[in-house]
Amino acid sequence: MFQCEMCQYKTKYKSSIKSHLLVHKDDSEVPMFQCEMCDYKAKRRNCIRTHLLVHKDSSEVEMFPM
Ligand SMILES: [Zn+2]
Ligand SMILES: [Zn+2]
Repeated sequence: MFQCEMCQYKTKYKSSIKSHLLVHKDDSEVPMFQCEMCDYKAKRRNCIRTHLLVHKDSSEVEMFPM
């Protein structure tokens, strides 16, 4: 078993430990998706996609169906 060093969490899978360790990190240390056009960051790719609409003209948005 893999045991988390920072809490009682245990798992059979090394990859699970890696993703679990993120809960003990500050947001700034967690890999984030960054907007290419401004400083906006989000943990989810979907959030970035939605955010990108603010950089587009409404006429353009219709050409990029989500
Ligand atoms: Zn833990
Ligand atoms: Zn942006």
